[in-house]
Amino acid sequence: MPAAETPSTVIDAPVAEPSPVAPAGPGQLVMTAPRRGKPPRHFADLEPSERGEAMVALGEKAFRGKQLATQWFERLEDDPARMTDLPAASRERIAAALLPTLLTPVRTLTADKGTTVKSLYRLHDGALIETVLMRYKNRDTLCISSQAGCGMNCPFCATGQAGLTRNLSTAEIVEQVTAASRALARGEVAGGPGRVGNIVFMGMGEALANYRSAVAAVRRIVTPAPDGLGISARGVTMSTVGLVPAIDKFAQEGIAATLALSLHAPDDELRDELVPINRRWKVGEALDAARRYFEATGRRVSIEYALIKDVNDQAWRADRLGKLLNARGRGWVHVNPIPLNPTPGSKWTASDPAVERAFVAALEARGIPTTIRDTRGSEIDGACGQLAAIGPEQPTTGQVTLGLPTAGKPA
Ligand code: SAH
Repeated sequence: MPAAETPSTVIDAPVAEPSPVAPAGPGQLVMTAPRRGKPPRHFADLEPSERGEAMVALGEKAFRGKQLATQWFERLEDDPARMTDLPAASRERIAAALLPTLLTPVRTLTADKGTTVKSLYRLHDGALIETVLMRYKNRDTLCISSQAGCGMNCPFCATGQAGLTRNLSTAEIVEQVTAASRALARGEVAGGPGRVGNIVFMGMGEALANYRSAVAAVRRIVTPAPDGLGISARGVTMSTVGLVPAIDKFAQEGIAATLALSLHAPDDELRDELVPINRRWKVGEALDAARRYFEATGRRVSIEYALIKDVNDQAWRADRLGKLLNARGRGWVHVNPIPLNPTPGSKWTASDPAVERAFVAALEARGIPTTIRDTRGSEIDGACGQLAAIGPEQPTTGQVTLGLPTAGKPA
């Protein structure tokens, strides 16, 4: 493997060969995505300032860039024939050059009377990703993917267990949002016409490990129409295992998004197992970075905590978490316990309701705002940690076990 292609960060164990099919062995992290053929360039990859140039390169007037942005991002039009402000003779050529199909729908599963929709898409190279749309009374939330698979290898997460296939391009991320926005605007989703107001980077992948594309996608999503999709930055949540330098960088981007930190344990001993990146950045360092994010943006941080029966759900752990958060100030954070969603072959289950209540009570006793996350879509494997993008022809993943084998050869 040439040096340039070797994954850059190794945590305690050799990093798996970046093969598109072989997942990392337990405890191994893959920080750098395998290289595969680049997805075709798409209009949504371009900064507003690059669009005029792209049109000129096609022999068109520069202002066509703005017109196409209005059609694509504001009107959510995807049929070139209906882009009647573009010259008829140019429409097909512009579309062929700038609007290649990036996401091909493979399968859609619904729950909650059609108001929760999990969509499986195939990318240009056959990689699969998923999104989940969740319609609530007063808001529509879309959970999107930033990578095909994930290299973070959290043992309780189906995506993590399947390994990392590759990073998504900016447009591959943005187009998940465009597609859902279009379906909602056209009234194609149960519950009547709507618009995506909330975006959570809680689908497949560790977005901050695909920093450049993910942050460019956030910009495209929050830039007011017609240059972007015009979704409020306050409605965007970036979820991370705790890549400290990337959190600090994101804090300086001038985007008022929410940060969610997947903590899952307040002690390094357990977190080293549940979230293997903890071997690199410890609980205290991740929480310090989360606090700095709050200071830089004024946005209250979410702490995600999957409650796993008899693993991390003890009231003393809630109490320890409350202490750690209060040690860093008041009013800057809230905790989102998530009842564990089952994943294929996992022996772990969600905590008992009484244990869950005691966990919440212990945090509240320390003054920490705490809300149990509603787990939508578990019956269609569309809830947190269940996105494995298993195509109709693929078998499910194997057994998930607790405990990391000693560092050794790549699996
Ligand atoms: N890589 C990002 C996004 C992951 S998905 C991150 O780790 O934050 C969003 C959340 O779902 C994370 O907090 C993740 O830890 C959590 N999650 C993963 N598997 C889960 C499961 N089986 N049950 C409940 N939550 C899970």
